[in-house]
Amino acid sequence: MDLGKLARQALTNIKPYVPGKPIEEVKREYGLKDVIKLASNENPLGPSPRAVKAIRGFLEEINLYPDGSCYNLTKDLGDLLGMEPSSLIIGNGSDEILKLLAETFINEGDEAIMAEPSFSEYDFCVNLMAGKMIKVPVDRDYVHDLAQMAAAITDKTKLIFICNPNNPTGTIASGDRIKEFMERVPDNVIVVFDEAYFEYVNDPDYSSGLDYVKEGRKNVIVLRTFSKVYGLSGLRIGYGIANPGLIEWVSRAREPFNVNSLAQIGAEAALGDEGFLTESLSLNEQGKKYLYQEFRQRDLDYIPTQANFIFVDLKVDSKKVFKRLLEQGVIIRTGDIFGYPDYIRVTIGKQAENERFIRALDKALNELR
Ligand SMILES: *Cc1c(COP(=O)(O)O)cnc(C)c1O
Repeated sequence: MDLGKLARQALTNIKPYVPGKPIEEVKREYGLKDVIKLASNENPLGPSPRAVKAIRGFLEEINLYPDGSCYNLTKDLGDLLGMEPSSLIIGNGSDEILKLLAETFINEGDEAIMAEPSFSEYDFCVNLMAGKMIKVPVDRDYVHDLAQMAAAITDKTKLIFICNPNNPTGTIASGDRIKEFMERVPDNVIVVFDEAYFEYVNDPDYSSGLDYVKEGRKNVIVLRTFSKVYGLSGLRIGYGIANPGLIEWVSRAREPFNVNSLAQIGAEAALGDEGFLTESLSLNEQGKKYLYQEFRQRDLDYIPTQANFIFVDLKVDSKKVFKRLLEQGVIIRTGDIFGYPDYIRVTIGKQAENERFIRALDKALNELR
């Protein structure tokens, strides 16, 4: 029996997600003991220590179902953001909220708009619901081309994804550009601001989509996560902020216990861990400066980043570089998955990791040139 005939048609269009290669896998395949991963924009300092402590203290209670409403975390986040708890939804990673958005709003044949290159999950979720994704190339500066994205809106458009800062380019769409764009968005379109990296931004031209949630004129949802600066990728927890009406609809598609109790406990503790946040951001700034300088010395074109990763044009096939880096125990991301085969995306690590990456890159490029 050909199961493809039984499966939903929409699934034939789904391309499997290409995750960052896990450390253990590289150790096994290459017989290495010491491997570093600069591939998934994880926090090089590890998890928030406060989160770890809180989770340890809660382990004896995992026989109980989690709080399906995430009461405590929702309240803390609300206080922090100056929003009512009814404006928040917590997800099993912000990935889950992306999926819930598609499940809530995308009927077969509906359209969504995203930038290219950008985060592949948007494409996945929309395709899963048999929607059609319209991809609008970034402009010459690798920034979301919001004018073209607005021009791509049709009667069928339901969702527009703005990844700000954008993964993999690290660029931001400025507050002014977003303002112009929002004026052109009709009321029956939902704008999703994915702000997974907003904590890292230091460009004064940045403005969060939260302003538009608060203003309440348009249908806007802002997504954020504990996976990056808080160092909790493995727990799977992120959140969305929108008007209560939008939250209520999206919540209809949510599983009752979508966020596990350790994730809730860990996220709550991490929120109060300001020291860890500051330390993580300052390490990122230092690493960014170091890598910029090394790239410049080697005449490698990089895109200045507002996040914790850098997209670099190596002008050689990045898959070949990837393999040579793996052999040296360094995992990065190739640009081919984003449509940029000569680029790599490297996460900014600890100083020693960044240095090791540069040494390995020199060796790889020497072999290839
Ligand atoms: C890492 C990342 C996320 C976060 O995903 P989680 O599911 O919360 O781990 C969301 N959007 C983008 C663009 C990302 O890079």
